[in-house]
Amino acid sequence: MTQEYLTRDTLKDVKSIVIKIGSGVLTSDEGGLNSKVFKGLAREISLLKKNGYDPIIVSSGAIAAGMQKLGLTEKPKNIPQKQAAAAVGQSALMWNYERSFAEYNQKVAQVLLTHDDLSNRQRYLNARNTLSTLSDYGIIPIINENDSVAVEEIKFGDNDNLSALTTNLVGADLLIILTDINGLYDDDPCQKEDARLISVVKEINHEIEKIAGDTTSPISVGGMITKVQAAKKAAIFGVPTIVANGKLDGILGKIIIGEDVGTLFLPKETRMTSRKHWIAFTLKPKGEILVDDGAQKAIVNKGKSLLPSGVLSIKGKFGTGDSVNLVGPDRFEFARGLVNYSSSEITKIKGLKTGEIEGKLGYKYFDEIIHRDDLVVLESRKS
Ligand code: GLU
Repeated sequence: MTQEYLTRDTLKDVKSIVIKIGSGVLTSDEGGLNSKVFKGLAREISLLKKNGYDPIIVSSGAIAAGMQKLGLTEKPKNIPQKQAAAAVGQSALMWNYERSFAEYNQKVAQVLLTHDDLSNRQRYLNARNTLSTLSDYGIIPIINENDSVAVEEIKFGDNDNLSALTTNLVGADLLIILTDINGLYDDDPCQKEDARLISVVKEINHEIEKIAGDTTSPISVGGMITKVQAAKKAAIFGVPTIVANGKLDGILGKIIIGEDVGTLFLPKETRMTSRKHWIAFTLKPKGEILVDDGAQKAIVNKGKSLLPSGVLSIKGKFGTGDSVNLVGPDRFEFARGLVNYSSSEITKIKGLKTGEIEGKLGYKYFDEIIHRDDLVVLESRKS
C-alpha cells in the first residue's frame, strides 16, 4: 500500500490488523480491569472478524490486573514483584477476554512472547506459523509479553514495540494502537488546553518525535513516544498506524470506515522485506559504527554496502553476524545492519581499502563490513 493512494477511506480494504490495547484502556479509574470495556471491544473485534478482517490483539493489562488481585495500590517497583503481579494478572486478563468474546461465539488464544523468541530467526518463523494456524482455525490470538520470565536483556520493553514487531511477524496491513488519549496532539493535551489533535502524519521525523516525547499520559506505560516509535517501525515496513482513544465506544468501526478519528501515520512508499525489518527492529543492536559522509551518502542514496574505507570508529563489542547501528558524522543513526566482521577485526581494518584487508588480518571473509542485502536504511535521501 503506497502513500499516494492511502487515505482514511482505503483503510476498509485492509485484511490483517494488529490491534494493540493499552492498560489505560482496559482499567477503570479505581484500578482493576473494566469488564464493560472488554465487552465493547469483544463486540467490535468479533464483528471485524465476521466481516472478513483478520484481527490480532496485543494486550497489556496483566500487571494492572495483578495489582488489583494482590491488593496493591501502587505499581510494584522491583522486577520479581512486577513479574509476580503479571503472573497473577495474566489469567484474569485472559478470563475477561474469554468470557467477553464467548458472547459472540468467538474463540481466542493466549500467546506470550519474549524478545528472545523473535530475535532467533527459527523461533521467529515458528511463532509466525503458530499465529497463521490460529488464524486458519478462525481464532483471534491475544499476545502479551511473557512478563513473568522476561528480565531486562530479553524484554521488548513495552507493548507498543511488541505490537510493531507483531505487525512485521504476521505481515499485517494495519496497526491500530488504542490508548487513553485521542491521538497525537501538536502540544501536550494534559498541560495545554489549546493543544490540537493531528489527523495525519505524513512522515515521522525528529519534529514529530519531539512532540510525542513531550506528551504525558498518567497510565500508559511508554506515553506517546513509544507509540510514535512503533508507528515508525510499521511505516518502514510499509504499514499505516492509527493511534486512537480505545475508551470511545465504536472506535474500531469508525477507524475502518474511514472516519477522521485518532492520528493516522502514513507508511513509507516502499514496503521493506520482512527479513530486513527483522534486522532493523527485532534484533537488538550490539554496537555502533561511525561512518564518514561519503559512505553515508553511498548507503542512503545509492543502496551501497559498507566497506572498511568508510568506517571512522566503532563502539561496543560485537561478533560476526551481530546487528549494529550505523551513525553518520551528525551522530544520528541512519541505518542498521549485520556485520561480516567482529568489532576487534573492524578496529584493525577501519579506513583501509578492500584490497588491504587480507594483508592486515591474514585472511579475508568478505570485501564488505556490511553487505547491502543485510543493511537497512532508516532515513530518506541525503543531500
Ligand atoms: N506487559 C505489560 C502488562 O501486561 C504491559 C506493558 C505495556 O503496556 O507496555 O501489564
